[in-house]
Amino acid sequence: MNKWHVPSDNCLICKGPQEVVIGVRERGPWERQHSYTRVLFCSACDVGELRAFDYDDFVVFEEEDDVMVWSSVMVTADVDQLRSIFACSSPLDHTCECAQHVRAYDTSVKANKTRLPEYGSHRHSPVGRTTVTVRTVDGLAEFVPA
Ligand SMILES: [Zn+2]
Ligand SMILES: [Zn+2]
Repeated sequence: MNKWHVPSDNCLICKGPQEVVIGVRERGPWERQHSYTRVLFCSACDVGELRAFDYDDFVVFEEEDDVMVWSSVMVTADVDQLRSIFACSSPLDHTCECAQHVRAYDTSVKANKTRLPEYGSHRHSPVGRTTVTVRTVDGLAEFVPA
């Protein structure tokens, strides 16, 4: 695995380490594929994010990037709300397939995230990101565009 393909959960703003608040879903890591969706929180910047990482070495060269990263801002109040409404006792278990984890993943896919550049000097620039918020539907936490 090329070093550029090692995922980073660091804050896009201050580059510092972030807390993993919710492990929504993860597949891998395998040698040629790895994907995950997480909610992260930076206490230094007092802001969270919904982050999705996808590495797929099987894509056809030059048709699609092998690494894609998306992020959307989550304000601290929404991160705190998500901690309290997330209806699973193992919020950090990326492999959990309970109704709450499935709902969170499905709505995270539909949530309007911003794709971050993976290569070049603007790699993972936080500029211009969309924002997502959370709500409870039928007792389960969902992501919704702000
Ligand atoms: Zn930060
Ligand atoms: Zn679960």
